[in-house]
Amino acid sequence: MSSTIPSTQALMDITARPDIIFTKGKGSWLEDHTGKRYLDVIQGWAVNCLGHNPHEIITALEKQSHLLINPSPAFYNEPSLALANRLVNASVFDRVFFANSGAEANEGAIKLARKWGQKYRQGAYKIITMDHGFHGRTLATMSASGKEGWDKKFPPQVDGFPKAILNDIASVQALIDDKTVAIMLEPVQGEAGVIPATVEFMQALQTLCQTHGILLIVDEVQTGYGRCGELFAYQYYGISPDIMTLGKGIGGGVPLSALLAKESVAVFDHGDQGGTYNGNPLMTAVGVAVFDTLMQEGFMATVRQRAEQLSIGLMALSKHHGLQGERGIGLLRALCLDGNYGNDLVLAAREAIPEGLLLNAPRPNLLRFMPALNITAEEIELLLSRLDTLITTIRT
Ligand SMILES: *Cc1c(COP(=O)(O)O)cnc(C)c1O
Repeated sequence: MSSTIPSTQALMDITARPDIIFTKGKGSWLEDHTGKRYLDVIQGWAVNCLGHNPHEIITALEKQSHLLINPSPAFYNEPSLALANRLVNASVFDRVFFANSGAEANEGAIKLARKWGQKYRQGAYKIITMDHGFHGRTLATMSASGKEGWDKKFPPQVDGFPKAILNDIASVQALIDDKTVAIMLEPVQGEAGVIPATVEFMQALQTLCQTHGILLIVDEVQTGYGRCGELFAYQYYGISPDIMTLGKGIGGGVPLSALLAKESVAVFDHGDQGGTYNGNPLMTAVGVAVFDTLMQEGFMATVRQRAEQLSIGLMALSKHHGLQGERGIGLLRALCLDGNYGNDLVLAAREAIPEGLLLNAPRPNLLRFMPALNITAEEIELLLSRLDTLITTIRT
């Protein structure tokens, strides 16, 4: 491909995209239309848990596409049953509904909680969510989100999502009334800047839910699938939620998400929930391949080693440059800067020659890292040394 890019006018302008077209990917590396390579620690926003174009996904797509792509969601297919059984066996949940995006899985969780409220809590429907939380971009999930300014964007909001403060159990308690049916949160707030719930807070939430007879919903769209060093982050917290949603890593790059619930909560009646592409064998076959790779002997232990390496390396960088430290769980981490130059770093890293580096700054004073779970130790060292150079350059 030449170094000029085709007209971009035909696409809706929904975000500021750089004049780069990515044409190839392998592992932790992307290549653009000019042949320039980039070390990628964004990975499609924590999606590509096995990196770009892993052979496991290529093989699964190839095999399944020759067999069956779409029998209809009204019939069973083998890969969706295989993946549902794996998820149920690996978790505290009993039932799975597959969807195509994190937001859609969360919509399903909201509907399921409301349905359960109709059946068992005299029509209770309110779901307490967290300030700064992020649950997706549909109307209901935007209303459930606590992103600044989002409550004003597309009025009227979907009703029934009072906001509490993360890690402040009293703020949650104060919102519970007889219309409350559930509490929903991310174990680690991702878009807000990698802010983990504390273990005490999560356990207190579980107790609070049990005391009031309401549901605990964890949005593990970003934290699930090994991202936090356990298959699911709720395991790290030692809790047993009623409902969980998965997205991003579950498909390793293809559109796949899931809503999981315990038996007593899986109360949809026929006709309540569905979707044209939901649980299609092409995507769920990829899901099986991704799951089985994460389950391989030593895979998660290596994730935890890399997470420790990244954490120690970021902390050393912070000390060396006098920054504000690092935080996170597993391979979802943030480096806290000492000024609002996060976006300058993102730009300089991307434009660096001969090789670029793809970084993410969800807040101007913070970098977030969501590398492939199979990033190598050498690639983490490379990331750290390039960050070191970039920070020096930007701050002088
Ligand atoms: C990304 C994300 C979503 C939305 O997922 P989509 O696939 O973009 O709809 C929801 N919740 C959390 C925690 C996320 O990180």
